Amino acid sequence: MGGLSDMLSSLSKEQSNAKEISVALPLLEGLKENPKYTGHSIPIRPPMDLGAGNLSEILQKSCFREAKHGKVKIYFLDSPVFSKLRSIYANPEEHFRFAIFSYACFFLSLHLEVDLVHAHDWHSALVCALHKNASRGLPTVFTIHNLAYQGDHPLWMTGFLKEIPFELFPESYQHNGKVNYLKAALQTANQITTVSPGYRDETLTEPNGFGLSYMLNKRKLDYSGILNGIDREEWNPEIDPNLFANYNPENLSAGKQKNKESLYEWIGRPWIPKDRPLIGLIGRLTYQKGYATFLQAFKERTHLPFYFIFLGAGEESLENELFHLSHHQMDRIYFYKGYHEEFARRIEAASDFFMMPSLFEPCGLNQFYSQAYGSIPIVSRVGGLRDTVFESPLEHEFTGIVFEPGDVGSLGYALERSYTLYKDSPKLQRLQKKIMLIDSSWRQRITKYDAVYEKALQSKL
Ligand code: ADP
Repeated sequence: MGGLSDMLSSLSKEQSNAKEISVALPLLEGLKENPKYTGHSIPIRPPMDLGAGNLSEILQKSCFREAKHGKVKIYFLDSPVFSKLRSIYANPEEHFRFAIFSYACFFLSLHLEVDLVHAHDWHSALVCALHKNASRGLPTVFTIHNLAYQGDHPLWMTGFLKEIPFELFPESYQHNGKVNYLKAALQTANQITTVSPGYRDETLTEPNGFGLSYMLNKRKLDYSGILNGIDREEWNPEIDPNLFANYNPENLSAGKQKNKESLYEWIGRPWIPKDRPLIGLIGRLTYQKGYATFLQAFKERTHLPFYFIFLGAGEESLENELFHLSHHQMDRIYFYKGYHEEFARRIEAASDFFMMPSLFEPCGLNQFYSQAYGSIPIVSRVGGLRDTVFESPLEHEFTGIVFEPGDVGSLGYALERSYTLYKDSPKLQRLQKKIMLIDSSWRQRITKYDAVYEKALQSKL
């Protein structure tokens, strides 16, 4: 669910064509599909002495259960601290849960004798610190998916870290008086990556470094931006079973029209006329995603004959505003609150355009999904969006429409340009077909991770 899991599953699937890949994940109650267990389970035997306390008690009650997904081996951490959770995010005491997870992953990587550990985001950041400080420590690569989330917790909440020999968690892992898991990884990983070159550069200065730009600057030579890829077998409108009608670049126009009409019926909005342009929006309703800018422009540009379908959940104030608009402007906008993957795919297939007004965006995935489904992305010029969407007057260079982040006038003008494009139907179709053919798969990007892995292995020698 969300960008990190999409990235991790598509990356490991592609990597498993050439390497042996093992992925460690917490086992949650709310898993969508039952894992294909192989029958192996691995009890956790701490590779270093832990004090007697909560942490070691829970580790003793936890184990890894092996499963297989294609060629990828998955190790689910079956632990009392995760087993009752239905979602991985926004649970109380997550600093404790993810210290357990990191410690368990540290143990697993030694047990499996892997060559290298690749940790993602603050949740597994302590793995890098544990390897750096262990006598048999392995090389590590740490990937930042979003610097806004650092796993920082007040000192008084993290006393349990003392159970792990305390010299492993020096004061330098603290930031602004808090223990900061992500900062620990920035100091100890052999290589650091983030999910686009644009975001890498932005995070080297404040405010985009969220206070840690100085640390990233120290590690500048070991810090690279590698653009995320997508799984084109998973995201292909020709075979996607969730769509009302499958289509390809050759029958795109008829396919989109069919998806549009069926979607309007499905959501109970018999919008007429049906030939108006549709803009889709999907995402977490948080400050980062810039929907406040969009809503302001939406209210100002009432003369533009767009329909909007919005799917998302998050901050209550945004949800309430969207409910209100969806109720009072039923002829223009529809809002559904929730996380709904089938709906998300149907929106991508039906939309003529897809809006991403982010204020910052490490990579973003929906611009790739939109392009694959022939829906023109309208995006703000930030992070990974500015690396992947180019508004050029030359058709062969055009991959979407771009405006300035947080700028209501600029977003409104982008809507005007989108409508002008919509009215030029032959051009719209040419561009939609063209963007469907962009190769956003991992195939050509994967070698960049290979190079980073090589550097990490070399630096550990
Ligand atoms: P982030 O990871 O910051 O949330 P990304 O664009 O990188 O943003 O990835 C989010 C992924 O989750 C996208 O594929 C998006 O379509 C999907 N997503 C977000 N919210 C929803 C939702 N409410 N229903 C279905 N899919 C969603």
